[in-house]
Amino acid sequence: MITRVQLQAAQERAARMLASIGINITATERQNIEVAEFGLGELEQTCTEHRHPPSAGNPGKMETFCCRWGCVVLFIKGDQTQYLQCKPPVGSEAYYTVFHEIAVSPGDQYTIPPDTLHWFQAGPEGAIVSEFSSASHDESDVFTDPGIRRIPEISD
Ligand code: ZN
Repeated sequence: MITRVQLQAAQERAARMLASIGINITATERQNIEVAEFGLGELEQTCTEHRHPPSAGNPGKMETFCCRWGCVVLFIKGDQTQYLQCKPPVGSEAYYTVFHEIAVSPGDQYTIPPDTLHWFQAGPEGAIVSEFSSASHDESDVFTDPGIRRIPEISD
């Protein structure tokens, strides 16, 4: 859970980062910036390992990450990368099972097929990423860590 003050500070930080690279957003978009903390109470974190499974006529979300600034490091199934740039959060290692690393730099993009386990972190300076996807059903995402809550809980 995060507080409303933390939520607003994170939204303002994201809006400032976008503005710093010339991406303009409307006041409504700024107000609706989603802050995902996965029930962990930490905002400087990993997007935890998950997959987007098929459901009722939907093949599952296919997502493309296009890096605009900084670097984003994705992990998917495949041969484990020998020297990882990123590591799972301390204490949560048991919930990370895929370690094939793909570093996406500004201008590069990578598409993750539906129902594919993945997790990611920003590089040391952070990252601005455009994500393009097929239909998204966040509530049906499956996280390796059963303690993750995808939909944010906000307190005043
Ligand atoms: Zn995903």
